[in-house]
Parts: sequence; structure tokens; C-alpha cells
Amino acid sequence: MAVLSAGASAWSVAAQTAPPGLVVVLVVDQMRADTLERYGAGWTGGLRRLFDDGAVFREAKHSYFGTLTCAGHATIATGTIPSTHGMLLDGWWDAVAGRRVRCTADDSVEAVAYGSGAREQHGPATMRVASLADELRLQNDPSAQVVAFAVKARAAVPLAGHRGDAVAWFDPGNVWTTSTAFAETPVPFVAEHIRTHPVEDARGQVWTPVSSTSDGTNGSDPHFAHRLASESDAGEADRAFYTAWRRSPWADEYVAGLATAAVDALELGRGPGTDYLAVGFSAADYVGHDFGPHSAEVEDTYLRLDRTLGRLFDHLDTAVGRDRYVVALSADHGLGPIPEQATAMGLDAGRIERGEVLAHVNRVLEPFFGPGEHAVGMGHIELYFAPGVYDRLRANEEALAAVLAALGTYPGVQRVYRGEELATGPFADALTAQVARSYFPGRSGDLVVIPKPYWYTWIRAADHGTGYDYDARVPLVLAGPGIVPGRYSGAAAPEDIAPTLAFLTGITLARPDGRVLTEALADRDRR
Ligand SMILES: [Zn+2]
Repeated sequence: MAVLSAGASAWSVAAQTAPPGLVVVLVVDQMRADTLERYGAGWTGGLRRLFDDGAVFREAKHSYFGTLTCAGHATIATGTIPSTHGMLLDGWWDAVAGRRVRCTADDSVEAVAYGSGAREQHGPATMRVASLADELRLQNDPSAQVVAFAVKARAAVPLAGHRGDAVAWFDPGNVWTTSTAFAETPVPFVAEHIRTHPVEDARGQVWTPVSSTSDGTNGSDPHFAHRLASESDAGEADRAFYTAWRRSPWADEYVAGLATAAVDALELGRGPGTDYLAVGFSAADYVGHDFGPHSAEVEDTYLRLDRTLGRLFDHLDTAVGRDRYVVALSADHGLGPIPEQATAMGLDAGRIERGEVLAHVNRVLEPFFGPGEHAVGMGHIELYFAPGVYDRLRANEEALAAVLAALGTYPGVQRVYRGEELATGPFADALTAQVARSYFPGRSGDLVVIPKPYWYTWIRAADHGTGYDYDARVPLVLAGPGIVPGRYSGAAAPEDIAPTLAFLTGITLARPDGRVLTEALADRDRR
């Protein structure tokens, strides 16, 4: 017999006898693996309950290099990595259109807005595999309900999968939105919740810290006060307000409120099959980018998320029953240090300006191809040429060598890959294998440009998007019936979440890249 838990547990740890009524997938958009140690002392709510009473994988780490929001959410939702699911970074370069496209952009669907002003159309058509939610419906119960909410479409859409009963995100036009990929008309309970809880109610609120352990020595202000205000007090809610709202705990509370409304309106977890509820919390990402990983704002965002999750779990305990749902919590990525702070410490750190890289490559190509915009686009680690240029480069050894040499010696660049090097293994070294796990032909760059540690191609205070541990290591916690609480120090990855939840719900994923985290399942002790 295993000793399952020293104290009373909030969740049952008995070996599971029936599939759970509800699977809850919580994704924090930006949460480093060391968040618990750094900021967890003041947690008393939902994060506290998860980390105390759940199975906590302390060495969980994204297994691929390009750690951005869309890639991370799709990985958690499908149990596969970007080279399989195809949801690369936050999007890729469309050579034909000559512009960057967002990962979930889909012009063939219509926006279905809970209000007016929606600007973007999103759907799951670009996601090349089924999600856990899709498989729950396919294998278990076609009437199983699928719900996903997040401020970002690139979080909500992959979390749901190819269908969903209530899937919504907050459009850049500042209105809650879904699309005809999920619903032809607004979902009544979502519409009612938004009508009775306008986002604009937060206008004029001032975000101040509940408490802070910061003494201000790291450059952050432990007594910050951010007002969720419009440019003019007399005017309508405007861009300034919505930007402040997205970057505040009010946004996380809002998506939790939508989730709570879904639990009630759809009676999640009380049907014959297993329902699916996914919630993406993205305030921490906006906050971390602007204030850095060691700011009082980041600390307070997690403290308030702890409270928000506590209320959500209390509601699930009452409405669904504490032994009737399983929870997984993880993050799409962590966050690196502010490059200027690393430089001040004497470290090799800095910023790579994307426009300057492209201009540099174009100058190098001028003697070969004449003046012109040969290199046209650059994402976090991807570099794209104008249509036809890369084929010409591959046919011209001297020109290709000149470009690779120019990029390889560029300040802050660790290594440069030709795309075709990453398409098929086996790979000679760990970095190449890691980069290849987020390489997707036709979406990834012609060249893949890997920055050195502490170097970023980004203008905000801090960034992520690499495979270095500050970006790749994230929390991974499972809790609920059938899961053995404890600290697990073996290797794990966010792509292990969906296969494990599939196992617990009695279904099988088609071709997961992740594995079932059997070490945390009560089944292991059955005899
Ligand atoms: Zn981010």
C-alpha cells in the first residue's frame, strides 16, 4: 500500500472507479516553473490547493524550441508537439500574401460577436491533429460538452479543438467573439453573462498589490497603482482602457467568471459522458512582458489568480462534486530575464532587431541577386525570403554560404539552420533535435535563427519564445480522482497532459507525442 497523502486532501486520491464527469484544463499564459518557490508563500486559494494536493511535476519542460502562446496551448490540448500539430509559435509568414498570419486566422469563417466591432476571424482549421476534447466526443460521447474561454483567440481555439459548444475570446476590436467554426449564432448563456457583466464595469478600477515581497531593489515598484482608465474620463471605454484591462487581474477573473457560468448553464460534469472545460489565463503574459519576471506586478497577478482559481474550484466542488472532476494546470511558456538587467550583471545578453537583420541579409545578397528585399520576414526564430529566393539561394552555394556566415556571426545569434536540415532526423545534437520539434515545413522559416541565451528579438521589457530553461520549464500539476498527490522530479512535458487525461477518461489519443504520466496514477498501486 502506498501512503498517498500525509494530510487531508481536497481531492480524493482513491484509485478511480469511473471516468470523471468533467476534465478541467487550466493554462496560465506565461508561468515559470519556479513561480511556486518565488511567489507561492502567500497563496491560500486554488494554486495553493493544486500545488499542495495535486501531483506536481517539478521538472516539466516544453520539449521544443519555439515557446509561444499558440504552440503551447495546442501542445497541452492535443498531446502533440508543434512539428506534429503545426501550430507554430503564434503564427507564420504567408509567402503568397506577403504578410505574417496568426496561427488560428481563418478567412473562411465568420466572426460571431457578442457585441459589435469584431475585427478578426479565427478557427481551428490550421490545427493538424484532434484535440483531447475532439477525441472525448469522437470516442466517448458525441454529446460531451466542450467549453473553452481565453482572452486570446490563439489560446481559446486550440484549447477547444475542432468543435465546441461555447468557445470565446476577446477580439482585438474589444468585444467577446466566437466564430462560425464553433457556433452560427451567439451562445445564449455566454451572451447573457457578457450582457450582465460588461468588461467595461472594470473601468476606473485601480490595480494595486494585495501584498508584495518586493523591496524595490529589482527595479519594480512594490507600491504600484495602475488605473484601468480611458484616455479621457468623460469618453467611452477606449484602447487605453482595454489594454490596461487585458494586462490586469480583472481579465483573468473575467474568464473564470465565464467558466463558472458555463458550469451552471450547461450543467458540466453531470451528464453521462465526460465534459471538457478549458480556461486560458493570459494576464500574466501581458504583465510579464511589460514589467519583467521579477516585478511586483507579476507577483500580484499570480496571487490574484490563486484567489480566482480558489473560487472556481469551490464552485466546481459544489456544482460537480469534488470527486467528479480532474484538473490539469500548466503554462504555454515561462519568461526570460530583462536583457538590460542581464547585461548589467555582466552577462552576454541583448536584443536582436528584426528589421536590421533583414536589411543585413539583403545587403549580403546584393552582389549576388542585386538590390532588393530578398529577405522579407522574421518571427521569433524564423527568417523568410520572398517567393523563389530561397530556391535560388540553394542553387547558389556561394550566396547561401555568405548568408549563413553573415547570420551566424550576427550579434546574439547562437546558430542558424537551413529549414531542410530540420525536416528529417535523426539529429546529431540536443539543440537541433529541440529546434526540429517546433519545425513545420511550409510554416517555419526558410532559415531558423536561434538566439543565444538572454538574447531576444523583442522590444517589450522581457520575452520568451526560446527553448532555454527560463522559457521552456513550466508548472505541470494534475489533481482529482485517480491521481496520487506528491512531488515528482522525473522528466515530464506539457504534451503528457492530454494523453494522461485521455487515459483517466478511458479513451486513446491517435498519435500523441507525449506519454501517460503513469507514475502519478493511483492505478499503479492496484493489485
Ligand atoms: Zn507572451
